Amino acid sequence: MEDCIFCKILRGEVPPGKGKISESDNFVAFLDINPEKEGHCLVVSKAHFETILDLPVGMGSELLTFLKEVSLKVMDKYECDGFNIVQNNFKSSGQVVPHLHFHIIPRKKDDPLNLKL
Ligand code: AMP
Ligand code: ZN
Repeated sequence: MEDCIFCKILRGEVPPGKGKISESDNFVAFLDINPEKEGHCLVVSKAHFETILDLPVGMGSELLTFLKEVSLKVMDKYECDGFNIVQNNFKSSGQVVPHLHFHIIPRKKDDPLNLKL
């Protein structure tokens, strides 16, 4: 998609937010440019799917494996004991970037989170 910010990042036309973390065959993880917590990152599909409804079921296993891998990596790197996974679909849910992505937000004990997602 020509104007999609995540497609531009995936094509290498724009740097990946605050840095790339990891990638698999069909997904990439990079830090969110406007993090809710230190280490807040996004798992983004390499193909331009708008919402989770567009994701082929056959990619589900790879996605889950990658979400787990990235979550463990950020928990380790940012010394956290928990994490939230948030995923918005369509504008009314708060989805701003219409390209499938999952927020992984590292959490520590007693750190309140008021999601503006
Ligand atoms: P959502 O509201 O679920 O669509 O979330 C979109 C997320 O993308 C927000 O948390 C933004 O901070 C993040 N975002 C937007 N542009 C960029 C960018 N260029 N690099 C990294 N993250 C971005
Ligand atoms: Zn896109």
